[in-house]
Amino acid sequence: MLHQPASNAGSVERLEAEPVNAERHRRPLYEKRRKIFPKRAEGRFRRFKWLVMLVTLGIYYSTPWIRWDRGIHAPDQAVLIDLASRRFYFFFIEIWPQEFFFVAGLLVMAGFGLFLVTSAVGRAWCGYTCPQTVWVDLFLVVERFIEGDRNARMRLEATPWRLDKIRKRVGKHAIWLAIGVATGGAWIFYFADAPSLLAGLLTVDAPPVAYTTIAVLTTTTYVFGGLMREQVCTYMCPWPRIQAAMLDENSLVVTYNDWRGERRSRHAKKAAPAGEVVGDCVDCNACVAVCPMGIDIRDGQQLECITCALCIDACDGVMDKLGRERGLISYATLSDYAANMALATNNGATAVNPRRVRNANGVFVEQVRQFDWRIIFRPRVLLYFSVWALVGIGMLYALVARDRLELNVLHDRNPQYVVDSDGSVRNGYMVKLLNMIPEQRRITLTLDGMPSADMRIAGQAPGDGRSFSVAVDPDKVTPLKIFVTLPREKLAEAKDGFSLRAEDPSSHEQDVYRVNFNQPGTAK
Ligand code: SF4
Ligand code: SF4
Repeated sequence: MLHQPASNAGSVERLEAEPVNAERHRRPLYEKRRKIFPKRAEGRFRRFKWLVMLVTLGIYYSTPWIRWDRGIHAPDQAVLIDLASRRFYFFFIEIWPQEFFFVAGLLVMAGFGLFLVTSAVGRAWCGYTCPQTVWVDLFLVVERFIEGDRNARMRLEATPWRLDKIRKRVGKHAIWLAIGVATGGAWIFYFADAPSLLAGLLTVDAPPVAYTTIAVLTTTTYVFGGLMREQVCTYMCPWPRIQAAMLDENSLVVTYNDWRGERRSRHAKKAAPAGEVVGDCVDCNACVAVCPMGIDIRDGQQLECITCALCIDACDGVMDKLGRERGLISYATLSDYAANMALATNNGATAVNPRRVRNANGVFVEQVRQFDWRIIFRPRVLLYFSVWALVGIGMLYALVARDRLELNVLHDRNPQYVVDSDGSVRNGYMVKLLNMIPEQRRITLTLDGMPSADMRIAGQAPGDGRSFSVAVDPDKVTPLKIFVTLPREKLAEAKDGFSLRAEDPSSHEQDVYRVNFNQPGTAK
């Protein structure tokens, strides 16, 4: 049949449909970075951040240099991850590889600590103590010192490359690299005796891995702290996404209180007498200029906001100048914010009218919700705190109660037993005595059970055949080869095996290991 072209296409309804990825909506996957020139902020949060920066950097750089006397048999560095000896020293605590659960416990505590802080005070970790935040702050100090504050830096950026610009840029990047080297250098000092390693580095005599680690950490510090800055938080770090899921309506977040700020106006003095309703925001952009993430908090909650609170400082300064109450930008809970917005907008019926939140004297009305510190102690926060504290108490108990003497026994697999010419049966074992203190001591090794059994230790006098006093080196594993023999007529005693008991007679510390005794017909 011949196909006829449709003559009445106009009668077919055209649906309003558009592909979501229509060409006009498409944006490049990678948006070019727009450089940010954060202005120096002044105020209480900035001072607090200086303090946190000093304390955290001070701890990081100085800790490997703190000495701690553990006697002649152990290193005198207070904090040391001794990979060669497989030990972790933390002041008076020494962790052996088999006690790695302490490190796991610390990681669990760190995880719950972050949950706890996030649910109580929002992204305080990001804003104050995250290494990325702290190092970016430090790099910005250098940048401001050399290139000046925001306006000077923007001017310098726009000027062509002349001698002055080259000099400033070279100086800045050289100091950034020096900070990177110091950061990488400080890191490796946690893994070896710091003074000896420093001497080795200065005489180019340190192990190659030390130079490699410094090079890698110098590069990452320089690139992340100096070049990428806010992009690390926005694109690379998973924490903003996780935290967004952890915040609830009672979590503290940095908030622009548009219920008192809108309508913003740069001409409030003229607008108010003309009968216009204007809020407290004078649209000066001071909050945007200081933001290290380059965002405008007046646009609402954003993933990029690290809650550093510098915009609070900037806006408080503006409010001080204008003689208005501080707190146009403040730490607030979303529920308080929503309640105040409902008040200012008559439950959403009108645009924000700041007159609704003030009385005739310009004072906030009673219904305006202010932050109440008691909200921090809500059930969810208390639950996180309880779990965190329980893990901490459990670890503390395990730390205090742990033995510093450990006994491990490995039964010989080949042969599993030997039948002597008189019919007696002999089993061999490899015993490992772990003396976890940095002092030499004598340990008594005793055979319990199998009353007719006779024990010998290779290289030691026979003794009474049941108990031996063994010298063990400080902070070491002492291996012993032992043989246990049972007469033929007493083989029935081997049914339940026996125990080896290691005991320090002076401290009565002891460890017991249950052992099998193999004989013809029972070997596995
Ligand atoms: S919006 Fe404010 S709190 Fe958020 S990152 Fe910027 S300055 Fe810090
Ligand atoms: S600093 Fe305060 S007054 Fe100035 S634009 Fe930001 S919110 Fe408005």
